[in-house]
Amino acid sequence: MAKELWYTEKGVFSPGFQLNFKIKESLHKEQTPYQLIEVIDTYTFGKMLLLDGLVMLTELDECAYHEMLVHPAMVTHPDPQNILVIGGGDGGTIREILKYPIKKVTLVDIDKRVIEVSQEYFPELSKGGFLDPRVEVVNADGTQYVKEQNEKFDIIFIDSTDPTGPGAVLVESDFLKDGAANLVEDGIWVAQSESPFFAPEFLKTYTNNLKKLFKIVKVYLTEVPSYGGVWAFTFASNKIDPLAPKRTAPFHRILRTGLKYYNPETHQACFTLPEYLRTLIT
Ligand code: SAM
Repeated sequence: MAKELWYTEKGVFSPGFQLNFKIKESLHKEQTPYQLIEVIDTYTFGKMLLLDGLVMLTELDECAYHEMLVHPAMVTHPDPQNILVIGGGDGGTIREILKYPIKKVTLVDIDKRVIEVSQEYFPELSKGGFLDPRVEVVNADGTQYVKEQNEKFDIIFIDSTDPTGPGAVLVESDFLKDGAANLVEDGIWVAQSESPFFAPEFLKTYTNNLKKLFKIVKVYLTEVPSYGGVWAFTFASNKIDPLAPKRTAPFHRILRTGLKYYNPETHQACFTLPEYLRTLIT
């Protein structure tokens, strides 16, 4: 009988808990100057991208991450035109952003090999986006980029790895301060913010740091089974409340593009927090 192969992921914030994925085939393994990139094909989740042994995305549930990272801010901002993504080298985030009539999206990823490997193994996520003339790719450390560049952005999305390895700097308060200075007055900051069950202290500190920079700070939730369940994002702005009824033209346009996860009801529901989380962040 053929031997079963399993991939075990040990979460950064949950040392006593492991996720196991039954492997169909290992497709790619490469050490870059920044991280170990792996692509495996699995039985339940389809193809999966891992960085330094941590799940970044799977074909099965990437929609629940990318759609929910992007659409709550895009539909709430009155006219998002100039967007910045820090991280996001797999292309899923820009795929969602490009569903709107924007002028430009700049993607800053430290590791160009993540972009290249994703284009090879996840064309449905990354092919269209990186060919779109509205996309500018910068291979740089996000912290350096926001410190040195002079443009102002309507929305900044932080689509980073977990806060370990090269992504650790992307949760530090200096990066938040420099990043927030890159936003227009009514700009929005959205960041992937880890598992609220496994990383409550991280989420508390991160939201507290955002509160020093923004008047409106909200946590919202999605579900990503391959990350271990419920997943948090943070939304921050000085002017824009994601629950204010502003979702007009772009909102209707986006609904015609065939989303798998996001809809007007999930938008309302995702900001409704369970008690443990509401208490944690207030
Ligand atoms: N959806 C994913 C998650 O939450 O697990 C994030 C995936 S995306 C592939 C993360 C990207 O962040 C990677 O491509 C990585 O190269 C990039 N990254 C990590 N640290 C970075 C930094 N300091 N500056 C810019 N990009 C960074």
